[in-house]
Amino acid sequence: MKKISFFAACLTVITFACNNHPYKATNKVYKQQVKQYLSTIGEIPPISILNDTIPPSPYWVGTTNFGIRKPSYVIIHHTAQHNTEQTLKTFTLPRTAVSAHYVIGSDGKVFQMLNDYFRGQHAGVSRWGNQLDMNSASIGIELDNNGFEYFEQAQINSLLVVLGKLKKNYNIPTANFIGHGDIAPTRKNDPNWRFPWKLLAEKGFGLWYDEVRDTVPTQFNHITGLRIVGYDIKDTSAAIVAFKRHFLQDTTKGMTPLGREILFNLQKKYF
Ligand SMILES: [Zn+2]
Repeated sequence: MKKISFFAACLTVITFACNNHPYKATNKVYKQQVKQYLSTIGEIPPISILNDTIPPSPYWVGTTNFGIRKPSYVIIHHTAQHNTEQTLKTFTLPRTAVSAHYVIGSDGKVFQMLNDYFRGQHAGVSRWGNQLDMNSASIGIELDNNGFEYFEQAQINSLLVVLGKLKKNYNIPTANFIGHGDIAPTRKNDPNWRFPWKLLAEKGFGLWYDEVRDTVPTQFNHITGLRIVGYDIKDTSAAIVAFKRHFLQDTTKGMTPLGREILFNLQKKYF
C-alpha cells in the first residue's frame, strides 16, 4: 500500500513537472507546427502534375517502397550566449527565427529541441561543396559557450554521445561533421578555435591530417585545395581563416607553409 502511494506521488510530481514548466506554451506551438507538416507530407500526389499540355495519368498509383529523407551533415556551433537558458529562450521566440536540433550545456545536459527529421534554422546563408541549403541537409548542434571560452569536458562527452547516435542512425559520412565557421566563412567563426576537432576526428567525426606529411609541390594550388575539401572560396581570405581555425587552431589571416602542408595532406589522404 505504501509502495503504491509512493509511485502515485512520483507520478504526480512527473505530471506536474511536464505540465508546469516555462516552455509549456511554446511546446504547444511546436506540436501544432508538427501537425501542419505531417498533413503536408501526408498529401496524396496529384494525377495531373504540371499543366494542360501534359496528359494526366488515369489514376494515382502510390509506390509501396519508400522511407523518410535523412540528414547527411552535422553542423557544430557555439551559442555565443551567456548560458543554456538564454539559448533555449532564443530558440523559442518566433521573432529570432533561429533554432537548432540540440543544445548542449557546459554541464553536459542535452536538450533536443527539434526532431532530427525536421529542418532546423541554424546554418543561414552557407555552403559546403555544392550543397547550398545546409539547413535542409543537416542537424544543428549548439554548444553553450560565449565564443571566448574553452569547451567543458562534460559538454564534449555529451556531444560525442549525440554524434555517435546521429552517425549510426543516419549513416552520416565521417567527413560531414563540420563547423558553422566552415560553411559560412565570411559570417561565422563558431565553434571557436578552442574546439577539439582533433579529438572528434579520433572518434570518427570529421577529418584530420597525418603527423608525418609529404613535402608540398610548389605548383600545389591551396585555393583549389580548399574548394576540394568543401570550403566556399568566393572570399578566399575568409576561407583560409576558416580552414586555419579548424585545423591549426589559428585565427590569423593568410595561408602559411604549415597550412599548405596540412591541406595538401588532407587532399591526398581523403580526396
Ligand atoms: Zn553558429
